[in-house]
Amino acid sequence: MNTFDEIIGNESVKLHLKNSIKMQKTSHAYIFEGEKGMGKRFMADSFAKALQCEAGEENPCNKCSSCIAADSQNHPDIIYVKPTNKTGFGVDDIREQINTDIFTKPYKYRYKIYIVEEGDKMTEQAQNALLKTLEEPPQYGIIMILTENLDKLLSTIISRCVHIALKPLKQSEVKEYLEKNQEMNSSSAHIYAALSRGNIGKARMYIEEQEFEEIRLMAINAIEAVINKDDLAILEVANTISLNKEKSDMMIEIFLTWLRDLLIVKELKEENNIIHKDKLKTLLKQGEGIAYNRICALISRLIEIQEIMKVHVNYQLAIETLLFEC
Ligand SMILES: [Zn+2]
Repeated sequence: MNTFDEIIGNESVKLHLKNSIKMQKTSHAYIFEGEKGMGKRFMADSFAKALQCEAGEENPCNKCSSCIAADSQNHPDIIYVKPTNKTGFGVDDIREQINTDIFTKPYKYRYKIYIVEEGDKMTEQAQNALLKTLEEPPQYGIIMILTENLDKLLSTIISRCVHIALKPLKQSEVKEYLEKNQEMNSSSAHIYAALSRGNIGKARMYIEEQEFEEIRLMAINAIEAVINKDDLAILEVANTISLNKEKSDMMIEIFLTWLRDLLIVKELKEENNIIHKDKLKTLLKQGEGIAYNRICALISRLIEIQEIMKVHVNYQLAIETLLFEC
């Protein structure tokens, strides 16, 4: 069930949204911003459900016909706006699914709520079309735009919306969630929580990824190859990463956490603070073979590659250069 109480973390956001319901000071437009897996949809769903609940309280009653319909994802007055083609929202999507539809009164409930998923995929024309509705929405209309990246939205859109930024959770919160909900032992939960950087969705995605161990082994071997200056092995690693674009994000995260652990065991000797505790022996051995400066150089270049990958250019060359140069 989608209720604020089920959401872990982001307490100030929940409080803000609940208060707006209590004080009857809701806006006609919201932007929920946060990276993939951070719970934008869950937060928007919970808010929409609470807004439509017939009890009219800050927390939904979970019993009325509106709450039941919202939980079944089949609410006549909570509308999910989706692009009709894979590349994103065109102007016609927005005109047909929002601009025209919003002027038909709600079917049964207090508001007519539109949740625009992947709002960052709206073309400029689509956003301009939406702007017309945002300028003069009907009194019952509420539009919630979900986006991973605020920069993809026009400033004219942003200025008309209440901006809700979802924050990453504490590592300990993710760890606790994994132990409770995924029945995971403490040391595995520790690794996944660290890799997820406060993003439960990402942690769950990594857990579902069966090849985690395989990728970790590859990271370990890659560092080994860098230490031994084994060019062939380095090329193979660069190739594997670039052939697995969908997993590259996870690979780089594993690389980074591994290098971070190397620094800790080598320089700080604080073995309790490492992520890959189960591989302490390998870390200690590798730490002896690689200089502090090389580890730091690898880390900063990997962070650069993460940035390059965000804009989807060919990054195989970047990976090769990285592994050979450091
Ligand atoms: Zn209700």
